[in-house]
Amino acid sequence: MSQQVVTRFPPSPTGFLHIGGARTALFNWLYARHHGGTFKLRIEDTDIARSTPEATQAILDGMKWLGLDHDGEVISQLANAPRHREIALQLLESGKAYKCFSTQEEIAAFREAAQAGKRSTLFQSPWRDARAASHPDAPYVIRLRTPNDGTTVIRDQVQGEVTIRNDQLDDMILLRSDSTPVYMLAVVVDDHDMGITHIIRGDDHLNNAARQMGIYQAMGWPLPVYAHIPLIHGPDGKKLSKRHGALGVEEYQKMGYPAAGMRNYLARLGWSHGNDEFFTDAQAIEWFDLKGIGKSPARFDFKKLDNICGQHIAAMDNAALLHELKDFCAVTGQPPLTPAQITMFEKAMYCLKERAKTYLELIDKAVFILAIRPIIPDEKSAGHLDDVSRSILKELTPHLRNVTWERDDIEAATMAFAEAREMKFGKLAGPLRAALSGRNATPSVFDIMFVLGREESVNRLNDAANGSG
Ligand code: GLU
Repeated sequence: MSQQVVTRFPPSPTGFLHIGGARTALFNWLYARHHGGTFKLRIEDTDIARSTPEATQAILDGMKWLGLDHDGEVISQLANAPRHREIALQLLESGKAYKCFSTQEEIAAFREAAQAGKRSTLFQSPWRDARAASHPDAPYVIRLRTPNDGTTVIRDQVQGEVTIRNDQLDDMILLRSDSTPVYMLAVVVDDHDMGITHIIRGDDHLNNAARQMGIYQAMGWPLPVYAHIPLIHGPDGKKLSKRHGALGVEEYQKMGYPAAGMRNYLARLGWSHGNDEFFTDAQAIEWFDLKGIGKSPARFDFKKLDNICGQHIAAMDNAALLHELKDFCAVTGQPPLTPAQITMFEKAMYCLKERAKTYLELIDKAVFILAIRPIIPDEKSAGHLDDVSRSILKELTPHLRNVTWERDDIEAATMAFAEAREMKFGKLAGPLRAALSGRNATPSVFDIMFVLGREESVNRLNDAANGSG
């Protein structure tokens, strides 16, 4: 590729960064990174009534969490309004646009008459070819002079060639009568000025592309490459609903999905590289291309997301994982980990990160680390602590005092204790779990004891044996 690739993500700050927007951002980011190009972020804040600073912040936070770093400053579309206006006036000057003085009432009357006469209701301004001398001293809009014949062909990298008859396109307004630029003009001018070479976005914008191309052509600007990606559907094949995942990315963050897993899963939503399901960022950047984008809508599937995220957690380096867990605690308002807990987490990572699909699940498995003596068993595990099991625990404790505190030695000592009493280990496991963690479903009791250390383990067993657990 001779030209330097420049992509962009231009969200409207009217709500959270939803999953579809995040995927669009990711595709643009991957494409730019793949080509060693530039990825820009533009906030399309021209709809003043609906745009909020909170939504802008949510978008920035979501992008940050997802690790989609943009190059250069965040661009505000609203701030560029004078430049959009300048281009509209330039088009007027060159005759590619014209002043239209038709009032709302006249346009409505035109449409009514067209409907009654079964003609196209696309407005045809009587001012298109009017001479300047006939212009009244009245408010006007500036309209683009769209060719009446011929076709506009979008050579889309995903959709193929899409042909639209020019007589289906009306002379769109560029500048309103209050001199504010319309959105369609703003997008084209900004994309041109930002040097955008590739526009990758949802296929709900495909129709806009035909209109936007009209502005590029009128200005004599080179067209960007278009890739309109099918929208994400729910598992039922219908439009993505909230229940099926149409949530802000911060919701996924709060559910404890790792950002790396999220990136991997979102990349797979509509793009593929052979049969690869699990991959790293480096692989995604190396592999990403527009050819791999599918033509039919991808289906959002929580099971697949879980599966991929679980693999990312298992594959993550322990230090990085701990760092992420600390962030997760902060984001979800959980108390920060104490130094002692951090030490135990570091020690426990090997048994916690297997089979945890989210950080929430991982922390749930680590509840024995977070619990503080005396451990209060939950309802399910409390049943394991009766007089008989308490006395067994009391007997076991001295055997644990002198073992080398390694996982396998702890296991060997416990097994030897059970064997000497002709007791199945299963009988011992429940009471040990209840005493050590207060739960029924936990990592292996040997892992727990190893991580807790001798003193804490023996203290918890004593608490339970003495009935204070
Ligand atoms: N602001 C538009 C949106 O949020 C994006 C427009 C575009 O990608 O050209 O849907």
